[in-house]
Amino acid sequence: MAAKARVDALRAAGRSIIDFTIGEPDFPTPAHIVAAGVDALQSGHTRYTGSTGTPALRKAITAKLERENHLRYDIDEIVVGNGAKHIIYNAFAATLNEGDEVIIPTPYWVSYPDMVAINGGKPVIVNCDAASGFKLTAAALESAITAHTRWLVLNTPNNPSGAVYTADELNAICAVLLRHPQVWLMTDEIYEHFVYGNAQHISPLQIAPALKTRTLVVNGVSKAYAMTGWRIGYGAGPQALMKALALLMSQSTTCPSAVSQAAAVTALSGPQQCVLQGRDLFSKRRDAIVTQINSIPGLSCLPPDGAFYVFVNVSGLLGKRTPQGATLGNDVDVMMYFLEQAGVATIDGASYGQPSYLRMSFATSIEQIESGCQQLRDAVFQLA
Ligand code: PLP
Repeated sequence: MAAKARVDALRAAGRSIIDFTIGEPDFPTPAHIVAAGVDALQSGHTRYTGSTGTPALRKAITAKLERENHLRYDIDEIVVGNGAKHIIYNAFAATLNEGDEVIIPTPYWVSYPDMVAINGGKPVIVNCDAASGFKLTAAALESAITAHTRWLVLNTPNNPSGAVYTADELNAICAVLLRHPQVWLMTDEIYEHFVYGNAQHISPLQIAPALKTRTLVVNGVSKAYAMTGWRIGYGAGPQALMKALALLMSQSTTCPSAVSQAAAVTALSGPQQCVLQGRDLFSKRRDAIVTQINSIPGLSCLPPDGAFYVFVNVSGLLGKRTPQGATLGNDVDVMMYFLEQAGVATIDGASYGQPSYLRMSFATSIEQIESGCQQLRDAVFQLA
């Protein structure tokens, strides 16, 4: 959101900026889902709903979890919130006591550590570098667990690295969790539909059903159905946790938007062609941006297995001098140089706990990818 504000401010000042910071699909919500929203408005779905969501939406979510993830839930094990972000925040608010530890592997979605800290918890950041494919290993998890560990947050496919955990990797992680009954698993699967090549999204509970009594599955309609502004996300988990979330929501936000909930029922239960079309589009853009980035001296990236970001290693540019005489000391300097010199907006890896990288979103057109990368190339050639 901060990067978006920076781009908006520069554009307002008259600069032309190619924006690779976008964290949402760049195409509109599919027409049949919009029509369901309009219909909901016209047929009077304009009042409060139950605080955990309408029975119709919670039923559609249980059907989705069974159909796509082979997970069985009752509707009273589902809570609908104003986006997945709301569910994650409330889960921490409902469960963390002062000093409780939450294990967060790098690179991480920026909001997790702050959400933990604001709720009195202690983020325990575990560094996962390129050598491990930016994935948490069983050994790293084992050594991060203490008697105070309350949660492990696992995000697959990952924002910002695009890493997707395989069955074997999840198996190893779940085996560690099974040995530590005080640790709960929060699995953020918001990018599940955007996987490429041979990669496959697997929900950890498919691998270790025994963890179900201490797992919160987090998902939503924002990314898969291009519905970020509708604000509907959900959590599936044990009843006691759901009750705590329901109480928090009832006393804070009351319920998610009734209109958005009705549209989300159609998203989850209607034709799924739009999701596949989105994935195919992102897959082509992914190939284009990976080729472009790896052709620029000093920049490199792995092809991401999932989500819609490339995580670009910029260490080859560190120490170089700009035409203005400044030295690029870190990824934030590189990000600012690209913004000022190339008119290209990216996000520094440090914000995701992984310095020396930049995150670039490919939720933008092939034309923008090509022109943006050309501008980056020109800016790199001006470095000494
Ligand atoms: N989780 C991850 C990893 C994300 O990248 C995002 C959004 O950028 C979210 C959760 C939140 O999604 P929403 O609140 O729109 O459902």
